Amino acid sequence: MSTSPHGPRPEHHDEATLVVTGAQVMDRDGTFSPATATVTVVGGTIVAVERGGTGVDGRPTGCAGHGDERVPGTLRHDVHGGGATLDDVQGEGARLGISRGASDGGPPQDAADRRRSGTVRHLDASGRWLMPGVVDCHTHLGWTTFLPEDEDEDDDDRDEDGAGGSAADHPMASAADRTDAALLSRAAPGLAATLRAGVTSVRDAGGAASAIRDALVAGRLVGPQMQTAVATITDELARDPAALRARVRSLVAEGADWIKVVATGGVMAPDGSEDESPFDVRDLRAVVDEAAGLGVRVMVHAWGGDALTHSIAAGVASVEHGMFLTERQADAGAAGGVVLVPTLAIYSEVAEMARRGELPERVRARASRVVEAHPRAVRRAVEAGMTVAMGSDFGTTDQHGRNLTEIDHLAAAGLGAAGALVAATQAGARLLGRGSGGLEPGQVFDAVLLTSDPTDTAVLRDPRTVETVFLGGAAVG
Ligand SMILES: [Zn+2]
Repeated sequence: MSTSPHGPRPEHHDEATLVVTGAQVMDRDGTFSPATATVTVVGGTIVAVERGGTGVDGRPTGCAGHGDERVPGTLRHDVHGGGATLDDVQGEGARLGISRGASDGGPPQDAADRRRSGTVRHLDASGRWLMPGVVDCHTHLGWTTFLPEDEDEDDDDRDEDGAGGSAADHPMASAADRTDAALLSRAAPGLAATLRAGVTSVRDAGGAASAIRDALVAGRLVGPQMQTAVATITDELARDPAALRARVRSLVAEGADWIKVVATGGVMAPDGSEDESPFDVRDLRAVVDEAAGLGVRVMVHAWGGDALTHSIAAGVASVEHGMFLTERQADAGAAGGVVLVPTLAIYSEVAEMARRGELPERVRARASRVVEAHPRAVRRAVEAGMTVAMGSDFGTTDQHGRNLTEIDHLAAAGLGAAGALVAATQAGARLLGRGSGGLEPGQVFDAVLLTSDPTDTAVLRDPRTVETVFLGGAAVG
């Protein structure tokens, strides 16, 4: 397969070598050493990260003082004291790619192929900060408004019979194509905005049909890599494990990568319902078991109470929101490896909307209770040793693209800047099974170049802080 390594990223795949110099690069612990690093990417995969100090060959590195003389195809590389050739660097990249990248299961490529394949591009990122691509573990990219039932149906009735293919002649296929086209065009702006914001992977918590994910894979839509729950399992199937198992199977047949169970009410629910769980632990175990048999995992919307206790006991992969998490639940979550995905930004925005009178009065009281409790839950989780991953829960046109705001909320809630940056990158990547989520050899180069130091997480509220986003090694915005 050495000649066709395209896999799921045809649009972004790039055989060229990219060398990013001069930036402060995020370390595994979410901090940025003052020394700069050189990141070498071949074919979309990081093959070397040479931190300040010594390079891969033991020679001193350091990019201070390099100038604008670099042009594509030539190289005056400080790592080697100047004068390194194109072949030198490609040979080095290939060597590292084989010796280190292979351990990650990536397809090691023939070094000669790589050398033939062409260009070395340089990016002088002096005075910038380079962090891994952000993983948003809770989005609703199929939505554009606060209440999904407000979503307009796309009335576009253009006929695509002009294609004349046999598929278009089939009335069912034609209807499906039209539905997909409407779906994709409605999701497109939010997807593009989310990627531009620095989010390179998402897990959609309901609302994004698998057609959206598939269009991203095929390069027909621009956006982050997506895993999707497609739709949610709600209380009408509670206390009926056989029906729950059947629902899991049908969701997976619809293309779900995750099973999402809604185990408590949400912010718009009737009074008192947010702590009630219609599902008992037997129900949730049935869902987890059926999902596991089909190779997918389970995420549960659970504000607190029995919903959290039962979810954690049933061994779900993550609990969403969790603002009324108790110490006991946090201990059990930590012991069971359950990830908490708090969603702080959305609830403070909902509280703000309610304060402005845009939502019913009962929502106002509930939202302010939630906003008060949520940071405490995050601190409890951290103190108990539970992993926290980032989720924005954003679903409106004006929210898509502001996802990194959540990082500032996580920092303020008790993770601190470094902890919040780890939650937004490595913790999410591990939850989604997308590598280490760090800027390390063997990892796909999903990364964000920032104009300001993100350890002051407030800068992440301003989308202009994101200068360049890399998806699979290619600069996409
Ligand atoms: Zn949600």
